[in-house]
Amino acid sequence: MADVLRSGWITTGARAAAFEEEFASYCGAAGAVALASATGGMHLLLAALGIGPGDEVVTPAMTWVSTVNCIVLAGATPVFADIDRDTLMVSSRHLEPCLSERTRLIVPVHFAGAALDLDPIRRLAASRGIPLAEDAAHAAGSEYKGRKIGADGTAIFSFHPIKNLTTGEGGMFCSDDPELLARIRRLKFHGLGVDAHDRATQGRAPQAEVVEPGYKYNLTDMAAVLGSGQLARLERFIARRALLAARYRELLAGVDEIIPLGLPPHAMRHAWHLFIVRLDTDRARLDRDGFMAALKERNIGTGLHFRAVHLQRYYREVMGFRPGMLPATEWNSERICSLPLFPAMTEEDVATVVDAVKEVLAR
Ligand SMILES: *Cc1c(COP(=O)(O)O)cnc(C)c1O
Repeated sequence: MADVLRSGWITTGARAAAFEEEFASYCGAAGAVALASATGGMHLLLAALGIGPGDEVVTPAMTWVSTVNCIVLAGATPVFADIDRDTLMVSSRHLEPCLSERTRLIVPVHFAGAALDLDPIRRLAASRGIPLAEDAAHAAGSEYKGRKIGADGTAIFSFHPIKNLTTGEGGMFCSDDPELLARIRRLKFHGLGVDAHDRATQGRAPQAEVVEPGYKYNLTDMAAVLGSGQLARLERFIARRALLAARYRELLAGVDEIIPLGLPPHAMRHAWHLFIVRLDTDRARLDRDGFMAALKERNIGTGLHFRAVHLQRYYREVMGFRPGMLPATEWNSERICSLPLFPAMTEEDVATVVDAVKEVLAR
């Protein structure tokens, strides 16, 4: 980072290009475009596909709000698929009834570091001729049937600070479609087709022209160099997270009110981005929000990934989504809670968290 600051080149340049190559090679992706965020990647994808009024995009409501906001801001209509109650992920069975002749894109979410069952989803999308883009914000280092997420198809990663790999803020667009990658590369920087560094190093004229109106979603070299350092440690981070997650599962096995997420039955490697549990509100004497507050009193920070998007105020009031539309999503939305999980935690820390959980439930 200090080298970048001293180098005289701090915005998108050689370091961002190197990070793109390193990330693509780690995933086995044909190509990767570094971006300012995953949300920026979703915005660019919708623009590249020309998605707008009258079009539908199918995605779960158990996701981060950014995807749905982008769909709505593009003038298109979000169509929500329900999820598997125990993995929080969609399957082809959930997606199929949501497809119509207006569906222009499917955005399933790899959740918490687990991988979606992609083969049936890919077959469904291909049979209908609908583009598929995986929300891989939680899935840097996750694998499906022995291949890294990002190796096949189109996947958008996030490097927000809570994710397994961070650049402060940032994202990566991976695809095996060279035309789509070229389009994303052009749209991420004003539609010039070349960014400032390309012009400096490749001797391109600063007179480069707008080929189509584009956006400003490039990742800086300052951020990229952080990403390269994180990527070099990602396997170690994941190994550590897996160990801590296993310890959690062991210690929580005897706690009746706590239901950890189920592990998908298909072959995959979990990247353990989040350790999510559900509070069994039929057995516990407090609700999820009370549970989180009581843990906070004991200095245990928890997270909520996520409150169902369709029941957030705008989506209820303006778009008319109602409770009851997505039973498994809503059931989880009221009960989920992410326990602390980060590589610097110790096994004793995990035991401390579980003790606090037991204490709160016994109160
Ligand atoms: C974090 C996240 C995003 C957005 O990533 P940003 O880099 O913050 O834009 C999208 N989808 C999911 C599921 C996420 O968790």
